[in-house]
Amino acid sequence: MRYLITGGAGFIGSHLTEHLLPAGHRVTVLDDLSTGRLKNLEAVKHHPNLQILVDSILNRPVLERLVGEADAVFHLAAAVGVRTVIEQPLQSLRTNVEGTCNLLEACAAARRKIVLASTSEVYGKNENVPFAEENDIVLGATTIRRWAYACSKALDEFFALAYAAEAGLPVIIVRLFNTIGPRQTGRYGMVVPRFVRQALEGRPITIYGDGRQSRCFTCVSDVIEALGRLVESPAAVGGVFNIGSREEVTIEDLARRIRTLCKSRSPLVHLDPEQDYKEGFEDMRRRVPDLTRLEATIGYRPRVSLETALKQIIADFKAGRED
Ligand code: UDP
Repeated sequence: MRYLITGGAGFIGSHLTEHLLPAGHRVTVLDDLSTGRLKNLEAVKHHPNLQILVDSILNRPVLERLVGEADAVFHLAAAVGVRTVIEQPLQSLRTNVEGTCNLLEACAAARRKIVLASTSEVYGKNENVPFAEENDIVLGATTIRRWAYACSKALDEFFALAYAAEAGLPVIIVRLFNTIGPRQTGRYGMVVPRFVRQALEGRPITIYGDGRQSRCFTCVSDVIEALGRLVESPAAVGGVFNIGSREEVTIEDLARRIRTLCKSRSPLVHLDPEQDYKEGFEDMRRRVPDLTRLEATIGYRPRVSLETALKQIIADFKAGRED
């Protein structure tokens, strides 16, 4: 197969590229390098079946050409991280909404299958865990910038389903739950790389709020496995799927575990996130996926424990990765 991966130089996209090439697929990476990095593709950059194009999903002629040349598309290009969305609200909205619409239009015209990466963020502050795909979406006020991200991704899903209904677009929507792994950067706010770096450098580990908010972190290799199986599953077409793990951890406990694994003496400090984000921040208390549909469709079971994923990430940082 020939795959187009938008955002292919990003954290998840680069892992997906590394997974598809050895399986004999051809991959074209489209990335504007706003948050992606060419060095994420260092290990595969000379692979004969890899083509890398530095351009934007806002460039429609380029998109149309690349979609036409591919058999299927993974759409991972998006504004990354809470920090980006709060600090660059306009660009984030344009990328997520306009860019995705361009791509859906091109895929519908060329009749190409597309896997659209959405996010667990769309469940918003619904506290009715675990979140099943048909659960209500509960978002906050429009004056709180964070919700623009959830809203833009929900809108992407609406567009995708509308293209499926009216233009016969074969689309698979995935909602990713807190993906972690080697090469993820803490620059855009993600908690695990931030805590690992703080612990390894002996600096205070910055827990926002009381630390009793929880997440289910999912190792990127499990996410990639699910993406690879979904794209090949005819039963997945037209569906919305959570991809995540069931291992729930509070942020306070996460900080302690990372500190122990790093053999660090960093103090744990509790911060008001408004010290880091001047405006636009609101936190979610719990986020747990219901994985019933994913399991029933592709037989998915998350395989990598949080402990193992954290060890891999710490080893990656110790190997001298720049953040
Ligand atoms: N968080 C934290 N300290 C940090 C960064 C994040 O305590 O330096 C918390 C954040 O408030 C949230 C959790 O960690 O409750 C996960 O944050 P992240 O931005 O990684 O993902 P998301 O909020 O999208 O789940």
